Amino acid sequence: LAPTKQLVLEAIKTVDSGRIASKFHAISKIGSTESGLNRLAYSESNKEALDLVTSWMREADLEVGIDPICNVFGTTRGAGKGKSVLTGSHIDSVIDGGRFDGTIGVVAGLECMRVISELGLRTKSQIELVVFAGEESSRFAFGTIGSKAIVGDLRREQLYRLKDHDGLVLADAVRRFGGDPDRIADCRRKASEIGSMIELHIEQGPVLERIGKSIGVVNDIVSIDRLVLKIQGETIHSGGGLASMRRDALAGAAEVVLFVERMNKRYPNIRATAGNIQASPGTLNAVPGSATVGLDLRVLGDRRKYLAFLRLGVRRICQKRKLTFEFANVFHQDAQRMSRRIIGVISKIAREMKLDPYRISSFGGHDSLVIAKVAPVGMIFVPSIRGISHNWNESTDMKHVRLGTQLLLASLLDLAGLS
Ligand SMILES: [Zn+2]
Repeated sequence: LAPTKQLVLEAIKTVDSGRIASKFHAISKIGSTESGLNRLAYSESNKEALDLVTSWMREADLEVGIDPICNVFGTTRGAGKGKSVLTGSHIDSVIDGGRFDGTIGVVAGLECMRVISELGLRTKSQIELVVFAGEESSRFAFGTIGSKAIVGDLRREQLYRLKDHDGLVLADAVRRFGGDPDRIADCRRKASEIGSMIELHIEQGPVLERIGKSIGVVNDIVSIDRLVLKIQGETIHSGGGLASMRRDALAGAAEVVLFVERMNKRYPNIRATAGNIQASPGTLNAVPGSATVGLDLRVLGDRRKYLAFLRLGVRRICQKRKLTFEFANVFHQDAQRMSRRIIGVISKIAREMKLDPYRISSFGGHDSLVIAKVAPVGMIFVPSIRGISHNWNESTDMKHVRLGTQLLLASLLDLAGLS
């Protein structure tokens, strides 16, 4: 074996699942409630968890930096001048979320950095562990805030426009967190600075578990469209309004929900979800004259085809019921293929480790999807027990986390190049 290969093999052997688990349990206490993990973007518990990660970065002898939107970077010292190799994820959560989503990628990254420091490994490119700010959209109805700032996809005005449920403006939340929303432009990292990135994340679906694989190498990430459908009928008396008179918008909306469910069952490459529904006037003495349905459509492949199909289905339902409708697309993110080169590096190493990696698609959005706009990116998935995520019962076997961390470490060293 070549000496560098031998060195990498020795290094990954020292990845310690006990240490990963103890860090994971310590950070999991922050924001844990009876109903789940509540570590919302830019909240106090988010800050407490970030401070803990920062202290661990210092323990691992990393150079710690924070940008104006509060992305935190822990960088290896003494590396050569090549472009940075990034790894990392997020530690904020959805409302009543699970402990593994995002956090496990950060804890795994910390373990990689600890091994690198302890063994005194020097790389040609520096390796940066990133904790991305505000990945989840639960609080401000807007996600991947930190990574968008890094690629220059977030404008100062947006920070002043987005609000949480209590009316707190995102810019103020960032300021309370220690950041500076007015310096958002300084978060931008030039494409020339970032050589590549690998994010380790839980699958958030059941595929790997069902086929008995411990590692997934992500091939692509779905497009996401969020739509608000407004259906208009006529409000009439619930007593006096005969069946033949009714143009019931809520009944039409209900039929749309079932149509979306059928669509989701029929096409394995999409995920279509009706997430909420509202009827107006919303009283029991009137037939609802208008209704609103919130829809989430995720597509691997050509999104326009499925958007058109959805529209057609809605039109049919509304025509039959003499209703009118309008769609508003409130959010759109394009699908993203992961870098072939990075997929190649991860897969080759995984095979050398006898891990039998499985090429998988991600139906969840990730910071990786955003960073992929400026640099080659890859993702490693570890199995989610019963496929459950965004729920307190979200879990991953620590044995799989250790394998994922070993694969991450070897891949990072390959990309950064041992010197
Ligand atoms: Zn996540």
